[in-house]
Amino acid sequence: MPTDIEAYREQIRSFIADQGLRLHREGVRVPRDSDEERTIRGWLRSLYEAGYLGAGWPPGWGGRPGHLPVHDLALMEELIRGDAYRPLDQVMLASHAIIAFGTEKQKQELLPRIRSAEHIWCQLFSEPDAGSDLAALRTRAEPDGDGFLVTGQKIWSTDAQWADMGMLVARTDPAVERHAGITAFVVPMNLPGIEVRPIREMTGFAEFCEVFLDGVRLGPEHVLGDVNGGWKVLTSGLASERAFVGANAVQLDRMFSDLISLATAARQPDGTTALEHEDVQAHLATALARVEEVKLIVRDTVDRILDDNEHPSDGPVAKLAYTETNVALTELAMQLITSSTSIDDDGLEIADRWYHNYLWGRALTISGGASEIIRGIIGRQLLHLPRA
Ligand SMILES: Cc1cc2nc3c(=O)[nH]c(=O)nc-3n(C[C@H](O)[C@H](O)[C@H](O)COP(=O)(O)OP(=O)(O)OC[C@H]3O[C@@H](n4cnc5c(N)ncnc54)[C@H](O)[C@@H]3O)c2cc1C
Repeated sequence: MPTDIEAYREQIRSFIADQGLRLHREGVRVPRDSDEERTIRGWLRSLYEAGYLGAGWPPGWGGRPGHLPVHDLALMEELIRGDAYRPLDQVMLASHAIIAFGTEKQKQELLPRIRSAEHIWCQLFSEPDAGSDLAALRTRAEPDGDGFLVTGQKIWSTDAQWADMGMLVARTDPAVERHAGITAFVVPMNLPGIEVRPIREMTGFAEFCEVFLDGVRLGPEHVLGDVNGGWKVLTSGLASERAFVGANAVQLDRMFSDLISLATAARQPDGTTALEHEDVQAHLATALARVEEVKLIVRDTVDRILDDNEHPSDGPVAKLAYTETNVALTELAMQLITSSTSIDDDGLEIADRWYHNYLWGRALTISGGASEIIRGIIGRQLLHLPRA
């Protein structure tokens, strides 16, 4: 594995150019047993086979010598830059948790199936009344012989409509302190008692699902980690989930040039283009300053990964900076669109992309920790501010 990161990036870029599966829209998911699903599984499998995914796993499980966290970041950035379909967070988090907490048998059964893309995973954490405050979860796993009977409802489960496996957290001991009474489970999604209902979003697509669990029987082999030790399992992956959202900042230059193209194509009532107007120019200048700021913040995070050789503790800063700037840019794009009387033909495709970004962009400010929660984490963990 090249330690020269530029050479590694170059290698990924040519791999994507040869075989990359294009991502047309973020937040778009496919139905189970469709051709698109098979294509996505094939692409994920080829990323594992080429050694780009799973390279950080322990050597016995297919990890590669010399792998550094910065390789993961380079992969993410190049996939985003190349508009290629990204590996699913849920699968990456599942493998992380199985490696850290799984029994030998669970590793043997589950990790190869992740590598072959036979198993797509979903995350069954959030509930209607437990999102940011996940410890409030109410799904119960009650003792039943040597296993458990699980009843409750999960929501916002990305990919549950085609997932083969779910990482579930449920309450196993209601009598103890709420973080202490939770257990993590690995759950085949085809078990009796599981019902998955996709939720149609304002983008028109269905990325998330509601998942209903009605007396689902789980055995001891489904427990991941210790009984009542689920909090540790679920929090172990969240930091790495946040760490790489900032990788999306590689899109910002293109987004800014898309804004300029939009302003050039957006016709005002007097026939001029939006770009000719001083107030639009001022908004664009502010947007450019913001884009450059975020790029510096994310670059700083990358430098720390290189220096410290570990996943960054300041991933939340990059996540917050990117996701909030993304929303600000989409708002400016919508202002340009709605204040124009027409869009020239060559701007229509770009305008269409902005519509989708506008509807989807907010989701990124919520997933992996809503912005308010991330600000709290930055205040407490990075700035060491006292609790208010
Ligand atoms: C794109 C996307 C993918 C997702 N994928 C999954 C998935 O695969 N599996 C899964 O289990 N979940 C998933 N989620 C759910 C996600 O984890 C939750 O939406 C998130 O944790 C917020 O919870 P909530 O929606 O219940 O909002 P709430 O927690 O009810 O928050 C509502 C608002 O109140 C604010 N708020 C809450 N508590 C505080 C506080 N203490 N201080 C200040 N403000 C606060 C929040 O910031 C937010 O603005 C996904 C969400 C998105 C958007």
